[in-house]
Amino acid sequence: MAHHSLLTQAQALAPELTRIRRRLHQQPELAFAEYHTAAFVAHRLHELGIPCDTEVARTGVVGYLGNGSGPTIALRADMDALPIFEENDVPYRSQHEGVMHACGHDAHTAMLLGAAQLLKQHEGEIKGRVKLIFQPAEETIDAEGNSGATLMLAEGVIDDVDSIIGVHVEPALPAGQIGLRPGSMLAAADRFELEILGQAAHGAYAYQGVDAIVLAAQVITAAQTLVSRRIPAVQEGVVSFGVIQGGMRENVVCDRVLLVGTVRSFQPEIRDQLERELQQIASIARAMGGDYRLRYTRGTPSLVNDGQLTGFLSRIGRQCLGAEAVTEAAKSTGGEDFAWYGERTRSAFVRVGVRHPDWPARRPLHTPTFEIDERALPVGAALLAASALHWLAEYDPSHWQGQG
Ligand SMILES: [Zn+2]
Ligand SMILES: [Zn+2]
Repeated sequence: MAHHSLLTQAQALAPELTRIRRRLHQQPELAFAEYHTAAFVAHRLHELGIPCDTEVARTGVVGYLGNGSGPTIALRADMDALPIFEENDVPYRSQHEGVMHACGHDAHTAMLLGAAQLLKQHEGEIKGRVKLIFQPAEETIDAEGNSGATLMLAEGVIDDVDSIIGVHVEPALPAGQIGLRPGSMLAAADRFELEILGQAAHGAYAYQGVDAIVLAAQVITAAQTLVSRRIPAVQEGVVSFGVIQGGMRENVVCDRVLLVGTVRSFQPEIRDQLERELQQIASIARAMGGDYRLRYTRGTPSLVNDGQLTGFLSRIGRQCLGAEAVTEAAKSTGGEDFAWYGERTRSAFVRVGVRHPDWPARRPLHTPTFEIDERALPVGAALLAASALHWLAEYDPSHWQGQG
């Protein structure tokens, strides 16, 4: 089968994929509450004659294709939406007030269902097994710190997986193109809550207390030197304070300020350094007569694409979508829980362009006017299906180095 014909076959499914994506878009569900989405996916797989498990990682679905033995490749889409009020005036606008598919996970789910249909049409050519992972809860973690990906790992879903491929929509890239990048692509995303503790006093007699606001100001200013002065200039990192809360009245010295923020990094040693040195900087509060409590929570690790698998995707992408379709993806300080899979198996994450040529302005992810050019749906579906078929057909463990 020629690679290019898969794109033609996927394009024949375009109206169906658009219908699926719009239906999901209209009924977005938040992390770990993807009940209708999961039921829709399971029903669609059933229609296609693809067996699946439901309630995997709570609200996830895993479908199975192939002959039940041999090498295994997993294809992953996430399904959750965001607590954002949609401002797009379209017929398929979100019907769940305050919830919106503003990260394109509706598109990812539609692309993977499209790939499932294509693979079913070519089931006789599947030389091994394909796992279709419809993952819940990419956007948030639960009280125990789990996201959909860490639960998938805990439930052993990728224990028998030799390689995994994930897709994500990319508003900076036109529809029809994809972005690949070997090595580091997305950042480790950590969260901190820092309480600065002082001692209350009358504002007129401030010397009798310890002003937590002044301590917090010192800490915030000093934290700016972590990236600019402390980590090597050739390394990247971000420290951002997103919340500052404290104080009651103009004439009361504040005794407690809460600071909440995010720390992004790529290299494990830089991640360790930023955590350690944020602690040191917080201790400025102690040096100035106050105190602090720091709660630092590690989130998703940095997303690192396997070089060989990315090279393979680049070749399949050019054959399947055309030579001009494959571009180099930019490195970004965003985070993505697909990174967890890469800690356990060979993995690659693909950016799928969704910018429409007629749109005058950018429509970024996580904004109320985010939108996609739906012509990207068959592109993503074709790439996923072609990658799975060819990866299995070419599979030879001796050709793949290292983890897998
Ligand atoms: Zn997102
Ligand atoms: Zn996303």
